[in-house]
Amino acid sequence: MTTAAVIVAAGRGSRAGGDIPKQWQMLAGMPVLVHTLAAFRGVVDLLVLVVHPDDRDRAQALAGDAILVNGGATRDASVRAALEALDGRGVTHVLIHDGARPLVDADVIGRVRGALETYAGAAPAVPVTDALWRGKDGLVDGTQDRAGLWRAQTPQGFRYDAILAAHRAHQGQAADDVEVARAAGLDVAIVEGNEANLKLTFPSDFARAEAILKGRGMDVRLGNGYDVHAFTAGDHVWLCGVKVAHDKALLGHSDADVGMHALTDAIYGALAEGDIGRHFPPSDPQWKGAASHIFLRHAAELMRTRGYRLGNCDVTLVCERPKIGPHAAAMQAALAGIMGVEVGRVSVKATTSERLGFTGREEGIAALATACLVRA
Ligand code: MG
Repeated sequence: MTTAAVIVAAGRGSRAGGDIPKQWQMLAGMPVLVHTLAAFRGVVDLLVLVVHPDDRDRAQALAGDAILVNGGATRDASVRAALEALDGRGVTHVLIHDGARPLVDADVIGRVRGALETYAGAAPAVPVTDALWRGKDGLVDGTQDRAGLWRAQTPQGFRYDAILAAHRAHQGQAADDVEVARAAGLDVAIVEGNEANLKLTFPSDFARAEAILKGRGMDVRLGNGYDVHAFTAGDHVWLCGVKVAHDKALLGHSDADVGMHALTDAIYGALAEGDIGRHFPPSDPQWKGAASHIFLRHAAELMRTRGYRLGNCDVTLVCERPKIGPHAAAMQAALAGIMGVEVGRVSVKATTSERLGFTGREEGIAALATACLVRA
């Protein structure tokens, strides 16, 4: 099973209020779409984000490894564009999800995927529990039996070939992809949804969503990093983004900023995203000699696209000389500036190794770093 998720976020819906479409508004400190994308990252094999062409720039900033597709004039057209973009990529199943449902959880996604082992389509829903009325001119005009009625949610999952063919054949508008699938004769299983998987529609929905997120508690991740660079001839070293006069230099492909490298690896580590070498292979000539701030900025951006912010970080430099204390505040400010975080979340300190080992013999500098990432 190779599964893709299509996040549909091309709408311009304005019922939620605000100057920008709801999927770009902030929820618990991050754009709604960051939450939505995070729910599918690591769960599916491919992610597609469908956006309005006007939103392409802001989408780029948070898309990460998601494929960006321009949406069409209607929801159907947007989904169709995403499905066509997946053609030829070996996808067997696709989950189509509203960008404005940021609280979908792994259990709901798992139930949809599970049902796809048996059915051509599957979608979550919750049973209608309120009494249903028909209204006319502000008066109750009749009641509606609620037996057998469901409130549909997303992700709506399908066998890829079947839903692509269904969309290609479908004429006119549809309420959702289940309607398109059924028009093509596909069976769609109902799986258990979740009341928390709400679609942000009105301003009050944002407050409710934030309360649900608070109730889920924080996701906290820790990462560590360690790096060493040897001394060579020179008259300065770069440490944590600050040029420090010294009677030696550090040897390395780039500026050999051992502290910044350790911190960058700590952030990658917290995200389970490997290390600097994986993102900027030293064998690739374009990264040979690249300034270290490029690496740290990339790690910080990746952190944000994954929906995390920096709780704090702590860098320890291990060396006899140069003395770090006089420069520590400047180093904290430099790192904070590169990562785009408050300086109070960044610590830089140093220790000697009591003249023991390679650092004690002043053959090089070692650095350790810890990063704590938080998703509210
Ligand atoms: Mg290094």
